[in-house]
Amino acid sequence: MCKISCIKKILFITHSIKDRINPLRIKNLNSKGFTLLEIMVVLAILGILVVIVVPSVIGTKEKAEQEVCRANRVQLERWYESYLVSEGIEHTDEMFVQYLQDYGKNICPAKGEIRYVNGKVECSIHSSDGDGSNENEEEVVPFL
Ligand SMILES: [Zn+2]
Repeated sequence: MCKISCIKKILFITHSIKDRINPLRIKNLNSKGFTLLEIMVVLAILGILVVIVVPSVIGTKEKAEQEVCRANRVQLERWYESYLVSEGIEHTDEMFVQYLQDYGKNICPAKGEIRYVNGKVECSIHSSDGDGSNENEEEVVPFL
């Protein structure tokens, strides 16, 4: 009679000790998967990251295309001027178009129209943006 009651007391004490030592572990053993709140928090964090990262990646691509176009135009301008000097001929629009067809492929990654104006090679997409925005920024900045 004492044996059964003693065993019950011992079992009760060991269970209560386990519950006091690590009550969270016992609760986690009963739960499976994620709660709706946990999933919503993860989705909110991912949404915030996407909102931050996507515009910077798009801006970086546009800046890279603009820089490639500018570098290619400078190189084409030097080659064309050296071609004119070495051949001893004057610039004409037909001459530049012919030179562009022969040597000036893939100048602008955004497929802008390339033309030669006042000794400079310009792109229909990137030349006006790069030069015009810098001039406008200088005009907009107030005198301190
Ligand atoms: Zn361009």
